[in-house]
Amino acid sequence: MASTRDDAAAISADLTELRRAIHREPEIGLDLPKTQVKVLGALAGLPLEITCGEALTSVTAVLRGSRPGATVLLRGDMDALPVTEHTRLPYASQIGGTMHACGHDLHTAMLAGAARLLSQRQAELAGNVIFMFQPGEEGCGGAEKMIAEGVLDAAGKRPVAAYGLHVVSSLVPAGVCTSRPGTMMAAADTIEVTVRGRGGHAAQPHHAADPIPVACELVTALQTMVTRQFDVFDPVVLTVGLFQGGTASNVIPDEAYFAATVRTFSAVARADVKVAALRLVRDISAAHGLSARAEWTAGYPVTVNDPGETAFAQQTVTGLFGAGSFTPALNPLTGAEDFSFVLEQVPGAFIMLGACPAGSDPATAPFNHSADAVFDDGVLADGAALYAELALLRLAAAAA
Ligand SMILES: [Zn+2]
Repeated sequence: MASTRDDAAAISADLTELRRAIHREPEIGLDLPKTQVKVLGALAGLPLEITCGEALTSVTAVLRGSRPGATVLLRGDMDALPVTEHTRLPYASQIGGTMHACGHDLHTAMLAGAARLLSQRQAELAGNVIFMFQPGEEGCGGAEKMIAEGVLDAAGKRPVAAYGLHVVSSLVPAGVCTSRPGTMMAAADTIEVTVRGRGGHAAQPHHAADPIPVACELVTALQTMVTRQFDVFDPVVLTVGLFQGGTASNVIPDEAYFAATVRTFSAVARADVKVAALRLVRDISAAHGLSARAEWTAGYPVTVNDPGETAFAQQTVTGLFGAGSFTPALNPLTGAEDFSFVLEQVPGAFIMLGACPAGSDPATAPFNHSADAVFDDGVLADGAALYAELALLRLAAAAA
């Protein structure tokens, strides 16, 4: 029997065509009707149970093997970004201000390819595979919404493992995978603070309650909090990216406002920084006789890879593509990812796949989210083979 990799190579042209069609017509957010149609077209005729989302244009497909067994989930996200493409590729975005700058078009094509490869092997499969085609990764929490609509139970029982692939346009050479056990990506939360004082004449501050110096003190105190209250080996990044207050140099305003993004790498640090930041805002404002309203908005949780599943994924990668095709990631990435919601409930691994184009240096090529980011189609067949092989081998291991 031909290898998964050979079978994937045989459908490489179809995957390239699908990927480029999606790339030309990118869609943003939870509502991706044209992308959904393309996915349904690619899956047509395969022996799959297909369900479309209600709150979002997701596609959940279940493949049942010829024999009963465990369930494995494979996830690919499908949404684009509000970026104007600068690549001048022949298949560049035809929609102004919208671009597949994070390579999710490749994930969609690779996952559709895996559905085809595994359907060809339905007779040898013991168990089920859930294919999770997800909209709204970029800030909309599409994974959480698909979980609410039942994707984890789509095959009738919970998956024993879940895997997500993500292409990167730099970082590692094309075809090389990287991941790490434990924390893979950061949590990203937001704190917004409004310091309430009492406005007045800038020449008579003793008759007013000036919110500006208090807000300034809060910004520096939050940085001191990060360095004094948190373990340097379980880091916190807190950046005030927005600071507003006042209308004129000779007027004390009623309020000052700032907002910060907060990145953490463990559930403990994430919970602790929320408590500490809110306490500090409240108490420093009170120390000056002012009050403050602080709003904490939870974003994506920490993406945590299961150590056993990560080791299994690494073995699968090197088994398929040879020694040297996997580079352990020394550090987590400071970006956030909503596959974290799946990994909170199912042990699994999130794996980066290099897609840096030939002739570019992975150390300097424009990274994901750049208007100049280019993702090489050449990795599509390998990505599809990897998805398929992860499911095949994991189901075989569960049956053994
Ligand atoms: Zn992405």
